[in-house]
Amino acid sequence: MWFRQLFDPESSTYTYLVGDDASGDTLVLDPVQGCEDELFAALAGRTLRYSVDTHVHADHITAGSLLRERTGARIALPALASDCGCADLTLADGDELRLGTLVLRVVHTPGHTPESLCLVAGDQVFTGDTLLVGTCGRTDFQGGDAGALYDSITGRLFALPDATTVWPGHDYAGRTRTSIGAERQGNLRVAGRSRAEFVALMDSLDLPPPKKLEQAVPANRRCGLDRTPQGA
Ligand code: FE
Repeated sequence: MWFRQLFDPESSTYTYLVGDDASGDTLVLDPVQGCEDELFAALAGRTLRYSVDTHVHADHITAGSLLRERTGARIALPALASDCGCADLTLADGDELRLGTLVLRVVHTPGHTPESLCLVAGDQVFTGDTLLVGTCGRTDFQGGDAGALYDSITGRLFALPDATTVWPGHDYAGRTRTSIGAERQGNLRVAGRSRAEFVALMDSLDLPPPKKLEQAVPANRRCGLDRTPQGA
């Protein structure tokens, strides 16, 4: 598996390029509008087949539409975001994306948002905002549901082998990866907490809204087609 991790310092978002060694076929996960030069440099002539978003982001605008225009890549969104109407294909639990011999399996992990998904590729998992290093995505807007997030993390992600490498959708402290075992044992929000305790904790966080919430969600519901929300 060919792999690159890119970072947008403005939103602290990790973007991933994942590809098949033999064919050069590649997908991008959670591309950030404005970071295309870095992305194309990293691609280095490989063929971009898919642009995938793990969920409708509130903190940055996706580069999906721009990448589709420039490369012919197909935009894949979670099935529950299909009402966006801008995707070429949608991804439901158990679906597979294939790049040559490389297979990425979709795990639907609602909680941060209803549509959120993770992608499993062998002993690696790309967790979007569902599971972060030592923490997890917030659940206080966009249909977030702390109980559902607890079930997704403990029931779906922690069912993966402990040695599975976790590639998060964000980190705010320079950490690039973790593992299922490390998070199962030491995640500061989930480990050692019951579902009810986790829900109480998430309900008490009182976080400020993301800076780009008002711009990003409408734009991402159009696959980042332009920067102007409809009706604005
Ligand atoms: Fe998010």
